[in-house]
Amino acid sequence: MQADNPRHLTIIGAGLAGALLATLLARRGWQVDVHEKRSDPRERDLERGRSINLALAERGRHALRQADADDAVMAQAVMMRGRMVHFADGRTDLQRYGRDDSEVIWSVHRGELNQVLLDIAERAGAKVHFHQRLDRVDFDRRIAFFGDERDDSQREVQFQTLVGADGAGSVLRGAMAAETGTEGRTDFLDHSYKELEIPPAADGSFRMEANALHIWPRGRYMCIALPNDESTFTVTLFLPNQADPDAGVPGFDTIRTGAEARALFEREFPDASRLIPELERDFDHNPTGILGTLYLDRWHLDDRAVLVGDAAHAMVPFHGQGMNCAFEDCVALAEHLDRTPDRAAAFAAFQAERLPNARAIQHMALENYLEMRDRVDDDDYLLQRELERR
Ligand code: FAD
Repeated sequence: MQADNPRHLTIIGAGLAGALLATLLARRGWQVDVHEKRSDPRERDLERGRSINLALAERGRHALRQADADDAVMAQAVMMRGRMVHFADGRTDLQRYGRDDSEVIWSVHRGELNQVLLDIAERAGAKVHFHQRLDRVDFDRRIAFFGDERDDSQREVQFQTLVGADGAGSVLRGAMAAETGTEGRTDFLDHSYKELEIPPAADGSFRMEANALHIWPRGRYMCIALPNDESTFTVTLFLPNQADPDAGVPGFDTIRTGAEARALFEREFPDASRLIPELERDFDHNPTGILGTLYLDRWHLDDRAVLVGDAAHAMVPFHGQGMNCAFEDCVALAEHLDRTPDRAAAFAAFQAERLPNARAIQHMALENYLEMRDRVDDDDYLLQRELERR
C-alpha cells in the first residue's frame, strides 16, 4: 500500500510543474501518484484547440535537462532572438536579447509541452490519475478527497505528503490556509488579457518575422505575439480593465465586442489587424484572463503538504518566467528531498532557498510590464540600451 512506502508522494495537478516534478522524483526511485482534475490532454490531441504558447528561457531548459526532457521539448520550439517592436508610426525594430544566437529565448506550445512532460513522467514510473479534482483535505487523518466531474463520484485517498502543483487557484493552498491561518495575498493587476491568433500565410509560412517576440507598445496598454511551430502566432492583447477616456486609453469596459476590438486594432495596431482574419470571432469566443501576484510566506505544512509553481508564487506574465520559475522549484524540491529523510526539514529548506528567488522574479515581472508597454518605444531608452550594448 502506498501509505506504507517511505518514499511515496501524492502530487496534485499534472500541469507543467506537476508533470516535471513527478518525472524528477520517479527517476530518483520515489513512488509518485499524480491527481489531475482535467482529462488526459493526449486523448484530445486531434481537436488541437487554441494554441497558447510560453517563452522558455535557459532557467527552464536547465530544469528540463535534469529530466532528459529538453530534446523532446526543443523539437517543437521556435527561437526568439529578441523583441520586434512595432511602433505607432509603422516602423519596426528588432531589439536582440543578446549578442548572438546563444542568448535567445524559445516559444513553446503549452499543450504540446504538457503532453511531452506527461509522457516522460509515465515512462519514469509515475502514475497519473485524470478526472481527479482535489476538493478538500483532512490533514489529521491524512486523507484527500477527490471528485470526478464526469459522474460526480467521490474518492478518498490516504497520503503521507501532498505536493500542490495545482496552479494559481490552488485548492491545496486553501486547505493549508484553513489549518495554519496563513492565507497569503493576491494583488490583482488592473489589466486583463485576451488571446487572438494570426494564422499561417496561404503558402503555409509565417506572416511576420518568425524568430522574434513581437510587441506593439502603446503606453498604458499593449499587444504581443509569440510564434508557434505550426507557423501561427498567438497574439495577446493587454488592456486596463477600465478605460481612461481623458488620456485616450481604451479598456475592457469599452472594448467589449469583437467589432469594437477590430476598430481598436485598425486604429492602434493596423499592421497586426490585417493579419488576424478571425479577430472578431477570437475576441468574442476566448475568455478574458485576469492577472495577479500571489504573496505567500509559508509554502508548507510541516511534513504533510508543500506547494510549488503558481500554487506558491503566481506572478504576472510580463517577464515570461512563471513556468521557468516553477521548473526550478521542481529541481530544488527533488534535491532537498534527496538530502534528508526528514520531509518537514526538506520542505523548510526548499522554501528558504526558493521563496526569495520567486519574490525577486515576481518583482521583475511587474517592472517588466511597465518597460514593455511604456519604454520599449521610448527613443531615449532605446539610445541608452544601444549604448549599453556596445
Ligand atoms: P499550471 O500550469 O496552472 O498547472 C496546474 C495544474 O493543476 C493544471 O493541470 C490544473 O488542471 C490542475 N489543477 C488545478 N486545480 C486542481 C485540483 N483542485 N485538483 C487537481 N488538479 C488541479 N510563464 C513562462 O515561463 N513564460 C511565459 O511566456 C509565460 N506566459 C504566460 C502568459 C500568460 C497569459 C499567463 C497567464 C501565464 C504565463 N506564464 C508564463 C506563466 C505560466 O503559465 C505558469 O507559471 C505555469 O503554468 C505554472 O505551472 P504550474 O504547473 O504551477 O500551474
